[in-house]
Order: sequence, then C-alpha cells, then structure tokens
Amino acid sequence: MSDVLTLEMIEKCYNRGAPGEISVLKGVNLTISRGEVVALVAPSGAGKSTLLHIAGLLDTADRGRVVLNGQDMSGASDRRRTEARRTDLGFVYQFHHLLPEFSALENVVLPQLANGVARGAAEARGQALLATVGLSARASHRPSELSGGEQQRVAFCRALANQPKLLLADEPTGNLDPATSDTVFAALMGLVRDTGLSALIATHNLELAARMDRVMRLEAGHLTEDQP
Ligand code: ADP
Repeated sequence: MSDVLTLEMIEKCYNRGAPGEISVLKGVNLTISRGEVVALVAPSGAGKSTLLHIAGLLDTADRGRVVLNGQDMSGASDRRRTEARRTDLGFVYQFHHLLPEFSALENVVLPQLANGVARGAAEARGQALLATVGLSARASHRPSELSGGEQQRVAFCRALANQPKLLLADEPTGNLDPATSDTVFAALMGLVRDTGLSALIATHNLELAARMDRVMRLEAGHLTEDQP
C-alpha cells in the first residue's frame, strides 16, 4: 500500500437547505502517495481549510471516502479518528500555536510524552528535529523569545514529533514576510524530505507551490491538477 491518503468524491455543503446554503466541495478526488509533497492552491473562500479539515479527520464529508494508510476512515468512530490523528497525522497552521509557557524543546517533547514516549527519547528526538531546522541554540527559549520564522520552524518540529505519515499544512508561511517565508519553507521541505513524509501544503504562493511535486488547484468546488 503506497498511497498515504485517498479522497474519493468528497462533497461538503454548509447550511444545507437553509438560505445560506453553500456547496464548498463538489466531488473532490485526490491521492497522495508515500513521500509525495502536494501543493493545494485556492483563492480565499474556495474551501481549502474545509478540505484540509476533512483530510485531517477534524471534520466529516457529506459524501465520499477518506482513506488514510489503506484504512477507510469515512464511517469510523470518533475514537478511531482521534487515534488516527494522533498517530498518523501532523498539522501545521498559519499561526504557530506553541504553548507560551514552555521552551521550544518542551513544545516538541510534550506531544511525544502524551503518546507514551519516554522523556529521554523524546528529548533526543526533539533536539534532533530542532537541529534539522537550525534551532539547536534556541531549544531552551520560549516562543516569545523567538522570531516569527523561528516560532514556525518549532511548530514544524512539533508536527513531526510523533513521526506522522502525512503532514497537513494550512498556509504554513502565510504569516511571514517574503524573505523569511522562503527560508522557513525551505526548512519545512528539508524536514519533510529527510523523513520521507507525505504532505499536503496549502499556499497562496505559486513560487512555493512550484517547488512541490504536484500542484492541485481548488476552484468552484473541484480539485484539478496543474500541468507541469
Ligand atoms: P478557505 O480556507 O479556502 O478560505 P474555507 O474552507 O474556510 O475556505 O471556507 C469555504 C467556504 O465555506 C467559505 O465561503 C466559508 O464562509 C464557508 N464556511 C466555512 N466553514 C463554515 C461553517 N462552519 N459554516 C458555514 N459556512 C462555512
């Protein structure tokens, strides 16, 4: 089984039957194979977050199938979905959402402790991840003592802490200035490529999108692949 994620004919409508009814996804298909990094490009309001939430098992589709690592999650119980999120998925958002009272290292260690990893091993992995993104010297700093780009690099390490199989990222560099965005994106790609992770990364930045393996465009409820 070399596909990490398959979305099959996903449909999602908000406020069905009400005056504000909006059909956001109208039969979306997507397959991401192991080690593949896919860009998700969409105009604002097109349903990019909706799609990421459905792929990340944070929301459910009205119709269609979500298959994660060969497991059909469409009709799965909340417990199974939560478990799959914890073990198979990593999330990165536009804002870092780091815990302010903990150091960079602790922010990467805590999710591992929650997953039953021993402290020594969790700290070793945390240090290794921070080193990959050039933040060894910042490991003991709290988020407020880090720049925006550094905070986001810590958030990437945290997302990868529990060795997920798929990373879902919603505008991971959208909050940074263009120069910082470039280096922070390079750090993210370095981490993803190093670990052989699969990723679906939403971005408005077409230059960044072009550096991924494939570019998928979401428009008018449909997802289509840009021809290289
Ligand atoms: P994007 O991330 O591409 O900006 P979203 O997925 O957030 O788009 O939203 C797509 C559309 O669905 C928007 O028009 C938004 O207003 C609407 N929408 C999103 N979430 C809800 C919700 N919970 N209830 C009603 N409408 C929603």
